[in-house]
Amino acid sequence: MSGATVAVVIATVPSAVELRAMLDAERRTGRTVGFVPTMGALHAGHASLVRAASAADVVVVSVFVNPLQFAPSEDLAAYPRSLDADVAVAAESGASIVFAPDEQEMYPGGRDSVLTTVAVPALAATMEGASRPTHFAGVCTVVAKLLNVVGPCTAYFGEKDFQQLAVIRRMVADLSFPVEVIGCPTLREPDGLALSSRNVYLSAEERAVAPVLQRALRAGAEAVAGGQRGADEVRSLMASIIEAAPLGALDYVEVADPTSLEALSVLTGPCRLFGAVRFGRTRLIDNVAAVPGGVR
Ligand code: AMP
Repeated sequence: MSGATVAVVIATVPSAVELRAMLDAERRTGRTVGFVPTMGALHAGHASLVRAASAADVVVVSVFVNPLQFAPSEDLAAYPRSLDADVAVAAESGASIVFAPDEQEMYPGGRDSVLTTVAVPALAATMEGASRPTHFAGVCTVVAKLLNVVGPCTAYFGEKDFQQLAVIRRMVADLSFPVEVIGCPTLREPDGLALSSRNVYLSAEERAVAPVLQRALRAGAEAVAGGQRGADEVRSLMASIIEAAPLGALDYVEVADPTSLEALSVLTGPCRLFGAVRFGRTRLIDNVAAVPGGVR
C-alpha cells in the first residue's frame, strides 16, 4: 500500500439523453446497472443503499427533489440541497454516475404540464397516503420515469419508507418493469432515530425526544412478540408512548400486513408497525417488523 489517496472517478450527468448513451455503452459490453433513486442530502442510510447496489457493475445514484411528490403546503422549497457533498458520498460508497437532472429535464414544460401519472391507489390510500394524498402518485410517476431513463437490472429502496417500497414493488410488478426491486434495512442513529434528510430540521430539544417514535414502535413489536394478538391494543400502546412525550404530535400509528398494507385486527402472522409524528415543522416516519410470539 502506498498510502496515496486514489481519486474516485465519478460522472455527474444532468441530461437523460447523455446518461442513456453512457449506460447503453456499458450494457453493450455486458455490464449490469444498479440504481439508487434519492432526493439528495445523502446520509449513511443512502450510502448503505449505494453499497448494496455495488453488486452491479455500474451504480447510478439519482439526485432529484421531485416536486410532484410534494403538496403545495409541504417543504419543497426548504428541502436540503447539497449536490457537491452528495456526489462525494455517492463516490465514496461505490457509485460511478450521479444523475442530477433539473426540473426542466424531468418535466419539460414544467411540473404542471405532466399529463400522465402512475398510481397504485389500493396501497397508497392509508398512512402516508392519507396524510399526503398526492404523494405516492408523484413518487410512482418519477420512479417510473427514472427506471425508464436508467434501465437498471436492480433498484434499491430503503425499508425506512416501507409503504413506498411496497407501492414501488407493486408498480414494477403490475407494469412489468424489467427490474428487480431490492429493499434495504433502515440505518439508525445510536439512540434509534432513523436517519433522514429531514432530521436536520429538528431543534436540539426536538432531536432529543425524536427517538420516542422508534421506542414506541419497538414497544409495540415487543408486545406482539410477547403474545399480544389485538392490533388495537398495540396501536393504543404505541400511541400512548408517543403522546406521553413532549413536543411530538402524533399523526398516526398503524399495524398492517407487510405486503397488502391492510390494517389488521387480529395478529396471527408477521406484520409491520408504522408511525408518523410531527415535531414542530418536521414530520418523521418510521416502521419496524413484528412477529407474534411462537410464529416463524
Ligand atoms: P430520499 O432521499 O429520502 O427520497 O430516500 C432515498 C432512498 O433512501 C429511499 O429508498 C429511502 O427509503 C432510503 N433511505 C432513507 N433513509 C434511510 C435510512 N435511514 N436507512 C436506509 N435507507 C434509507
